[in-house]
Amino acid sequence: MNETEYKIQIDDVIRRVETARVRVSGHHIVKIVAVSKYSTIDEIQKLYNIGQRAFGENKVQDLKVKSAELDELPLEWHFVGNLQKNKINNLLDLNPTLFHALNSIELANELQKKLEAKNMTLDALLQINSAKEESKHGVMPEDALNIYKEIQDTCSNINLKGVMSIGAHSEDYKVVKKSFETTFDIYKQLKGATICSMGMSGDFELAIECGSNMVRLGSVMFNK
Ligand SMILES: *Cc1c(COP(=O)(O)O)cnc(C)c1O
Repeated sequence: MNETEYKIQIDDVIRRVETARVRVSGHHIVKIVAVSKYSTIDEIQKLYNIGQRAFGENKVQDLKVKSAELDELPLEWHFVGNLQKNKINNLLDLNPTLFHALNSIELANELQKKLEAKNMTLDALLQINSAKEESKHGVMPEDALNIYKEIQDTCSNINLKGVMSIGAHSEDYKVVKKSFETTFDIYKQLKGATICSMGMSGDFELAIECGSNMVRLGSVMFNK
């Protein structure tokens, strides 16, 4: 697509986000993270030219290459993927804006060790497996509050900012809605949490209506 086509596409996404968020409240602000994992440097640059600033990747190596190539631009880079322990140092060296997928105490402890050694901090979200799906990472909803607190108490270099979840993999609207409500319910109980990251291309309006204030959009943003 050329830049004009991107603009039409993005304006449409923004309109859809607007409609959904105003249904919640005029004060409910939603941030769009453009997930660029299937997209090229050139495509990211085109979105930047029409105003997009926050981008997300799910592989450390891709984040490294793309953020280095686009180093001159004032972009925010989010890491939304599952993080393997042997990639922790590589991710930290890229100093991402936000790590969305902190999904266990073990990973938090590993991160804490490496953060301490590098004398740095990391903003992160606790990933919740809200529909308890085998195929997904994340902590069980009933454990989430305790794990969140434990990470806060024991990992002083991790700044937990809230929660992240992927909507239930289902054709049934009610099942997906319930998975978002489960995550939002946990988010509401967390003191000081400010980010509830849920909603992807196929379900972001529903996620926003359930309280999401950060959507991670790949295919609708990049027309993939
Ligand atoms: C790929 C990905 C997205 C974006 O998916 P789309 O359906 O293309 O919007 C969002 N979140 C995570 C964790 C992803 O891996």
